[in-house]
Amino acid sequence: MNDEFEQRRRLIGAGLENRELDAMLVTSPASVRYLTGFTGSNGAVLVLPGERIFFTDPRYGIQSSREVSCRTQVCKGPILPTVAAVVAGSRIRRLGFERAHLSYDGFDLLRANMPVNTSLEPVSGWLEAHRMLKSETEIELIRRSVETNSKAFELAARRVRPGMRERDLAAEIDHQMRRLGAEKPAFETIVAAGERSALPHAHPTGAVLKPRQLVLIDMGAFQEGYASDMTRMLFLGAPGAQVKRLYRAVLEAQLAAIDAVRPGVTTARVDRQARNVLKAYKLDRAFVHSTGHGLGLEIHELPRIGKKDKTPLAAGMAITIEPGVYLEGVGGIRIEDTVVVTATGCEVLTPTGKELRVL
Ligand code: ZN
Ligand code: ZN
Repeated sequence: MNDEFEQRRRLIGAGLENRELDAMLVTSPASVRYLTGFTGSNGAVLVLPGERIFFTDPRYGIQSSREVSCRTQVCKGPILPTVAAVVAGSRIRRLGFERAHLSYDGFDLLRANMPVNTSLEPVSGWLEAHRMLKSETEIELIRRSVETNSKAFELAARRVRPGMRERDLAAEIDHQMRRLGAEKPAFETIVAAGERSALPHAHPTGAVLKPRQLVLIDMGAFQEGYASDMTRMLFLGAPGAQVKRLYRAVLEAQLAAIDAVRPGVTTARVDRQARNVLKAYKLDRAFVHSTGHGLGLEIHELPRIGKKDKTPLAAGMAITIEPGVYLEGVGGIRIEDTVVVTATGCEVLTPTGKELRVL
C-alpha cells in the first residue's frame, strides 16, 4: 500500500500549480488516511510540490511510524501552529486548506501563526474528487467490507423473532459484524419495524417486532477502513397485497437504476430511472431521498446520485443504489446495494438476495 499512498500524495503535489497553490494542507481524517494510511484521529498532511510532511501528536508517535511512509513531524502541542511554522519557514505564499473541514478555530490558529503575506485559500472537493475513483486495492477492500456486512445480516436475520426489540436486533447485527472482522458499523444500524419503517433514518428503539410487520434494516460495516452499505426488508408472517405491490415497485426501481449504471451516464440519469418506475406506480412522491451515494473511506462520499447531480459515472466509482418509498401510517420499503462501476457497466457487490425476506 505504501507505494499507492506515495502515488496519491504525488498526484496532489502535481496538481498544485493548476490550482495556483504553493502547498495544500489536508486535515479531514478520511483524506489524511487516503494520503498516508494513518488511522488515528489527529493528523494533517502538508503537500508541497516536491515534498509531503505528515503531522501528528505524541499519542500517535509509534503508530504513525508504522503506518506513515512520508516525512513525519510529531508536534508537542497542537498541530496547526507547527504547520504554520513550517509554512513560515518556506516559500509558500498561497496555502490551500479544506474549507469543509478546517474549523474556524483552526483557521484562526493558522492565520495567527503565519506571515501576513501568506494567503489561506479555501479549496473544496479536490481530495474528494480523487477519492471518488477507487483503485483496485480499494475496490477489493470495499468488496470485503460488503461480504462481512452481508454475512452479518444472514446471521442476525436467523435470530429474528416476534417479540424481539428493534434495539436488540441492531445490537445483534453490530456484534456479528465485529465478529466477522469489521472495526465497527459504518453508521448507526437502522432497524425500524411497522409504521416506523416510514422514517428513512429511524434510530432503533425499544419497540417490539410484531407479526405482520415490515422490518427495515439498513446496515454497513467499516472494515480495514472501507465502508459497505445495504438495506433489506423482512416481513414477519405473510405479507398482504399492499406490501407486495410496494415491494415490487421498489425492487423494479432499484433494478432499473442498477441497469443504467455504466461509464459516461450521469448520476441524475440513474436517479431518474428509479423515479420513473415509481412514477408508473404513482409512488414517486413517496420517494423522499436521492437514489444513492458514493462510499469508501467514508459512508457518504462523492458522487451523489440525485435529481440534480450531473456527475458522469466512471469505472472505479463505488456507489449505492437505494430507492425507497415511505408512506405515513403504513411503513417504508428501501432496497440498497453497493455497486462498482466497471469499464462496461457495473458489478453489484452485495451478494444478499433481494426478495422480501418472509420470516
Ligand atoms: Zn444504507
Ligand atoms: Zn446508503
